Amino acid sequence: MKCKNCNTEIDSKFCPECGQPARLKRIDGKYIIQEIENVLYFERGLLYTIRKLVTNPGQNIRNYLTENRSRLVKPIIFIILTSLIYSLTINIFHIEDGYFKFEGDETSTQFKITEWIQGHYGYANLMMGLFMAFWIKLFFRKHQLNIFEILIMLCFVMGMEMLIFSVFGIIQGLTNLNIMSIGGMVGMAYCFWAIGNFFGKKKILSYVKAIIAFILGMITFIFLATALGIIIDIIKSY
Ligand SMILES: [Zn+2]
Repeated sequence: MKCKNCNTEIDSKFCPECGQPARLKRIDGKYIIQEIENVLYFERGLLYTIRKLVTNPGQNIRNYLTENRSRLVKPIIFIILTSLIYSLTINIFHIEDGYFKFEGDETSTQFKITEWIQGHYGYANLMMGLFMAFWIKLFFRKHQLNIFEILIMLCFVMGMEMLIFSVFGIIQGLTNLNIMSIGGMVGMAYCFWAIGNFFGKKKILSYVKAIIAFILGMITFIFLATALGIIIDIIKSY
């Protein structure tokens, strides 16, 4: 018999190469309950991830990078999912999108770029994360992390930021209290704290550097998006 995942020859219950079971069980009620438990379960999964990122982000993300990747949810899925939750929240409750906005000519390319970003926060956050990762790499050279490891760290941190925005958005939508701007500040403060916590929780300097690198990353992303819009408009006008 051959492994259905990697084609290795197998004569046991599990593939020796990749661990895939020789025979997959049929999907039944037990499977559904197990999958739901996996999401809700407190030893791993989404709620576990959120809890760990609230209480001790630095240690848990470091753990994900170097020791154990089975307990926290996959970081890129996490940022895409939480960005989607944010988009849904502001659409359902008709909350003004404070994360990204552009006021001005609605026929300009800049307006279209802003619209694209607002419709695709998951991808936009990943791109912005790359710019932040670049600045963080520069500011925390001694830590010897590569850009991709930093990006993965940022996926967890920015995912939590999106969730914080969403929670405030949902409360605002349900109560009509105007708290979204507070949510914005809490979300940003979380990012500064979590990144500083990741690089050395006892050093004040790591929090200062985290704030500067994070903001520089945002500015770089917004600047390049704006510049791209202006350049395209100039080319079009000729
Ligand atoms: Zn296999």
